[in-house]
Amino acid sequence: MIDSNSNYKIVFGIVPSRRLGQSLGISPIPNKTCNFSCVYCQLGRTVEYTRERQMYFDVDFIIHELKEYIDSIDSSQYDIITIVGDGEPTLYLGLGDLIKRIKTIQSKPVAVISNGSLLTDPQIRTELAMADVVLLNFDSWDENSFRKINRPLKSIDFSNRYKGYIEFRKEFSGIIYLEVMLVKGLNDTIESINKIADLIRDIHPNIVFLNVPVRPPAEQWVKIPDEKMVLKAREILAASRMDYLPTGEFTSIETDPSKAILDIIGRHPMREEDIITFLKGRRTLTNIEGIKDEIVKKLRNNPKVQEIAYGLTRFFRISAPILHK
Ligand code: SF4
Repeated sequence: MIDSNSNYKIVFGIVPSRRLGQSLGISPIPNKTCNFSCVYCQLGRTVEYTRERQMYFDVDFIIHELKEYIDSIDSSQYDIITIVGDGEPTLYLGLGDLIKRIKTIQSKPVAVISNGSLLTDPQIRTELAMADVVLLNFDSWDENSFRKINRPLKSIDFSNRYKGYIEFRKEFSGIIYLEVMLVKGLNDTIESINKIADLIRDIHPNIVFLNVPVRPPAEQWVKIPDEKMVLKAREILAASRMDYLPTGEFTSIETDPSKAILDIIGRHPMREEDIITFLKGRRTLTNIEGIKDEIVKKLRNNPKVQEIAYGLTRFFRISAPILHK
């Protein structure tokens, strides 16, 4: 059985991103820690449901790891550093300090991917505003749809969260990307898309992205809407496409390819073709197909790894990511 002995507990990637290019990831929170449990979440159902911010890792520790990581790769390999979390990164108490310090040790932009739930808190808005790009999701139009799609903790309500988005836009001069995930039967009628579009207008995002659940979702019943509706939604929302899987290269500084794959799928589902692309990126490897078959065999024998048939393809993922504490 393969298991991860990676020296890197927080920094991962590089992972291809549809919105950000080649992204070097930082996950400052453990084990699917979130205050939502979105039906479409590619990490599976939320394990640690909390809205309490915590100092899960020392900022010093993360910065030390990041320095080591970026010193061992070529800076041309990544476009951006993304704080993404195995859940909701604003739950990390050191977020503001972390962003500030990342900017002192390197010059690439910093992005944060958040569910926007804590934007009601001025302190968190101030911290997020230190980033260059903030990516927020916005899939619902009222309390009821919010509960059905995003399944937040009881204490988080739709209208306060929305007000937080409006406040944040007023205070933040950087780039806001808003992502709307369209799920069949939940928010894919013309009426619901129009309601979402009306609300988005007052947030003034720089770009709206329309996504569909292209990766295995937390709930098996989640389905991709019909193509006709996806096109209509894109038109109504004036949205850019995100409803495809990225074709960029996954990379890792972990020297053992098996461990590297295991590290990546703890945070990001991979297909067999992604594993092949990853191996091809390792210029010294030969017999790529043979190594891929060996890795796939090990993944299938690893009880922590799920192999999920979804759409026309199969993905490997660890639903409760490996804890590196
Ligand atoms: S999609 Fe994001 S916000 Fe939703 S449950 Fe997953 S990690 Fe949390």
